[in-house]
Amino acid sequence: MINNRHIQCAFVATLALSLWSCNSGGDDPIVREGVAMNTYVTISVYGSSLSAGETGGVIDKALEEIDRIEVMATDYSDTSEVGRINVGAGVDSISVSHELVGLLRASLEYGAASSHAFAVTVGPIVKEWDFLSEHPGVPERSRIDSLLPLVNDALISIVDSTVFLQRKGMALDLGAIAKGYAVDRAIDLLKGYGVTKAIVDIGGNLGVVWEGTSMLDSTAASIFIRHPRREGEFFGSFLVGEGGVSTSGDYQRYFMNDGIRYHHIIDPLTGYPVQGIVSVTVVASDAMTADALSTLVFVLGKDRGMEFIRNVPRAECLIVYEEGGVLAHVLSPGFKGKFIPTPAP
Ligand code: AMP
Ligand code: MG
Repeated sequence: MINNRHIQCAFVATLALSLWSCNSGGDDPIVREGVAMNTYVTISVYGSSLSAGETGGVIDKALEEIDRIEVMATDYSDTSEVGRINVGAGVDSISVSHELVGLLRASLEYGAASSHAFAVTVGPIVKEWDFLSEHPGVPERSRIDSLLPLVNDALISIVDSTVFLQRKGMALDLGAIAKGYAVDRAIDLLKGYGVTKAIVDIGGNLGVVWEGTSMLDSTAASIFIRHPRREGEFFGSFLVGEGGVSTSGDYQRYFMNDGIRYHHIIDPLTGYPVQGIVSVTVVASDAMTADALSTLVFVLGKDRGMEFIRNVPRAECLIVYEEGGVLAHVLSPGFKGKFIPTPAP
């Protein structure tokens, strides 16, 4: 199942990303790469009724679509829709697009369904940890404690398409869902132009369109999961048809301090990075669902996370965790026999 070409492919990709895909159908894809949403973007189109030139043009439009969503949803700018909401916190109701309200409402539903393990209001805490800075450090506990009351989805008011954060200092952060959403929009755009086989990858958030095949019972692409602790190696692989795949990992944005790994996935109850879970990979019917669920399950942890996934139709997951310094993993029932772990060296 894992042939040499796949292995080479995986080695190249695991250097930077959590997931990598290789088409197993033999077609030569038309591929474009870019950078958006603070990460790498790759769009590969394997089949359409278009000429090569036309296909390249359509991929460019899909890249523009991803840029459009970044401009809307980033919290790294004061002028994006999310940025304006954050600047207005405690002061103003901000009028935004129906699209952003839809994305926000989806985030709030994941929050409510997970007893707020998923919290789109986690922004002030994420900013305090500042994982993107060159020299991140551990914030004072008193500072984290003072910010925690701002992490509260109930303090968001949405009326039609205006959004108001009720307390000064609150901030939305769509980092756990926006990449998956952008993947889905790019896939929709490609489909609209007659593309029938394609893979869109935004920093390890994958969307696959493959002639209406089903999610885990097809051979559209071999997906490789990066080994969370061994650079350049992969943890395992599986085959997918149409759907979305996402990995949340403690190795994606982190720093070490006194032997403790501080990473970017925050438990909203404590304001500190979740400990014990190493990575979560979710396969779902679309990329936004996979993206949101991989973060949500990471925060819920092994047992509650697996229980959560059991109740989501058409979603499977792999949880890698650390116990006594040793890596172990657990699979949801529908993933067993499909996820193939890489044999230990
Ligand atoms: P992901 O890589 O999809 O798991 O998303 C991680 C990103 O989501 C982080 O970089 C934060 O911007 C944001 N985030 C961190 N913790 C949470 C949380 N508990 N709920 C929602 N978003 C979070
Ligand atoms: Mg996510």
